[in-house]
Amino acid sequence: MESENDIKTTPRGFHCVLCNVNLPNQPSVDQHVKGRKHQTLSNVRTTRKTQEEHSVFVSGIKPDTSQTDLAEYFQQFGPVSDVIMDKDKGVFAIVQFSETESIQAALSCVGHQMKGLSLRVKPREKKDFKYIPKKKNDLENLQQLLDCLKPKLCQLPTVNAQMQFVVERFQLGENEKKSRGLLVLLLQEVFVEFFPDSQILPFGSSVNTFGIHSCDLDLFLDLENTKVFQARAKCPSEQATEAMSDDSRSEDSILSDIDLSTASPAKVLDLVAAILRRCVPSVHKVHVVSSARLPVVKFHHRELNLQGDITINNRLAVKNTRFLQLCSGTEDRLRPLVYTIRYWAKQKQLAGNPNGPGPLLNNYALTLLVIFFLQNCEPPVLPTVDQLKDLACEEEECVIEGWNCTFPSQSIAVPRSGNTQDLCSLLAAFFSFYAKFDFASSVISLREGRALPITDLLCHNGKIEEATDDQKPSKPNQSGPKLGPLNVLDPFELSHNVAGNLNERSQRCFQKECQEAEKYCRSLQYLRKSTKGKSWGLVRLFTPHGVTQTKPEELTISIPFKSDVLPEALRSQLRMAGDGFRLLWFEKVCTSVERVFQNILRCHLASSMDFALAEVSAADLSAEMETSTTSLNTSANDSLESVEFTENAAATGIKRRLSSGSDASVSPQGKKPRISKRGKCEPPHWLWVQKHLVWAGRRKVRRELIKETDSRPEGSCMEIESQVTAHIIQKEPELKNPLEFKVQPQLVGGTESTKVVLRLEPCCDKAGVFQDFFHFLDAFLPKMVETLLEKEVGLA
Ligand code: ATP
Ligand code: MG
Repeated sequence: MESENDIKTTPRGFHCVLCNVNLPNQPSVDQHVKGRKHQTLSNVRTTRKTQEEHSVFVSGIKPDTSQTDLAEYFQQFGPVSDVIMDKDKGVFAIVQFSETESIQAALSCVGHQMKGLSLRVKPREKKDFKYIPKKKNDLENLQQLLDCLKPKLCQLPTVNAQMQFVVERFQLGENEKKSRGLLVLLLQEVFVEFFPDSQILPFGSSVNTFGIHSCDLDLFLDLENTKVFQARAKCPSEQATEAMSDDSRSEDSILSDIDLSTASPAKVLDLVAAILRRCVPSVHKVHVVSSARLPVVKFHHRELNLQGDITINNRLAVKNTRFLQLCSGTEDRLRPLVYTIRYWAKQKQLAGNPNGPGPLLNNYALTLLVIFFLQNCEPPVLPTVDQLKDLACEEEECVIEGWNCTFPSQSIAVPRSGNTQDLCSLLAAFFSFYAKFDFASSVISLREGRALPITDLLCHNGKIEEATDDQKPSKPNQSGPKLGPLNVLDPFELSHNVAGNLNERSQRCFQKECQEAEKYCRSLQYLRKSTKGKSWGLVRLFTPHGVTQTKPEELTISIPFKSDVLPEALRSQLRMAGDGFRLLWFEKVCTSVERVFQNILRCHLASSMDFALAEVSAADLSAEMETSTTSLNTSANDSLESVEFTENAAATGIKRRLSSGSDASVSPQGKKPRISKRGKCEPPHWLWVQKHLVWAGRRKVRRELIKETDSRPEGSCMEIESQVTAHIIQKEPELKNPLEFKVQPQLVGGTESTKVVLRLEPCCDKAGVFQDFFHFLDAFLPKMVETLLEKEVGLA
């Protein structure tokens, strides 16, 4: 009901006032209202409203007034569920009751006197809940930070030196480490008072050697020994038990309230949160997030300006932190690589999830990607986790929750690598490794140091095939990892995909950025210091994209000429064509592209009406309808060697049927290039119409359709892909406003680097879906065309 009030009609569609987003049509409204953002904000609003309805505003307190004093005083009006102090000046507080009736009781009492203070109690002000988005992706900040680094980076003599500088600039300083250490000690002292024999252990970037100035402080509260203590204390004499319950503030009272061996993590964390709020100075903004994969208490330390996270049941994270420490201790090149790649990923908005949970890589997953790459260098820079296990001694054997976590505790036990590549070339090799990596059909295993076929990870009877005997979980019903577009198995918890949060788009962006970076790393600008003070080396690599949406001029997809994937018959045809091989190949590619759009993705060729929509002039249109076949010719004037189309191009003797292989009912015979007034033809183009979101959720549909019987990756089988499209079309509703777009192929490059560049352009995109479609095509189309060319399907 409330959601309905959130949606307002606007001249251009709808607007959700809660989330402050515009929505083009009713299906998108329906989808939005069910979506995570709207649901979360709606829940927050409900919680705030309930809090408002249950609380009063209290002023007249002093900075030294405690939450406990207030809670005790207001108990007389009804049970108090929370007291929120004004932490800045300490002059007011919000007292929250469990029952609304208590508010009236508190308000109607005149002359509140508490410990010599006259308190004023007022009703809470009712404020409209307003969502204030955090500054989006902070492009300006990214650019500003880079602007500060730039002069220093440009001055340095080599990329190696630049990478070392990145470490120095970002790493945690000694004082920062010390103050974090002191806070850990303080927390240890406080927690041990309430949870005897407990231990608080830091993990994550504060201690894994990859921390940066602003990184959070991840802490694990180990209550195993407290559980033992509690079990022992359970069977004392009755007198002792009574003594415990008498003193509600004694350290034991907490343990008498809760049975640690059976309490849910959320319940334990509620207690942890209460202790933090009441007993740790400078700590504020304490809250429990029980919906996370591992429930956590979050807090902020004001003086240190530090975000902290406390988890329980997280022994594996402490262990994987030790593993990262071991890797850095073993290999000096790891830290500069990780710092550089983390910074690159942040600048390109590939990692970090600035607003909490999100679809980007987290720093842990990114670090594992770097280690996996180093395991796969020739010769390897780092050993596999299995090899490390074999290097450990008996005392180092360790199994946590059934997972084998054995590795040497000291880096001295690990032999040095024979690989001598410098940082500059390793960084370039990292990009090149992931630029080509087949993410769709592989699962990254640091345990084995190789990519496992995705089919190996499909579960049978709840057991994981990949785990060898000593790595199998002890838990009998352990399920397999959540597979997604990018799969990185945790090195120890083999049923966990640490990149399981990524969506297809973030995976594609990661790979695309690796491809861009790979290209750049081959240029002289990467390798050689500019003598004119221009940006070079890492600076260009770190430059954030200026716009969040792809610029129109960047909407191109390249299909490179690869003779090795072509069938022998086609290769011999190309050989016979001599210098004309490029045009012949271009023709084949164009036919394949058309088949992908028409037969596999079920796009419809636009009618002449649609041409008018695309603002084709009447003269152009009639010219278009006159000519029935078109020939191609290369222009001698064109330095880029792009192909131009001229009226008397018959010289090459290569005829191009733009609609060859098309269904005549939807593809009028003889659709061909437009002739411009100068008497020259524009390159051929298609105008397509797509009525369904055939790109959304393909991976899932494919997996359902092929089950475990087929391990072929996306785009490698025409029949499967056609079925996937048919399935989506059948199951999903039609777009109210179909997407219309233009595709224009162009042959570029010399004999050495021939490729077809397809320029895409939306003509009508009222549903705002073109960007998504383009990102999908970017990976799908080249792969699919390659498959069709390989088989020479319908290319004759
Ligand atoms: P930073 O805080 O700088 O982003 P980090 O390594 O501390 O880097 P966090 O997201 O804070 O990253 O995670 C803390 C630790 O928790 C990691 O170092 C790792 O040990 C563990 N961890 C984080 N994410 C995962 C995950 N997806 N799977 C398993 N363990 C994880
Ligand atoms: Mg962290």
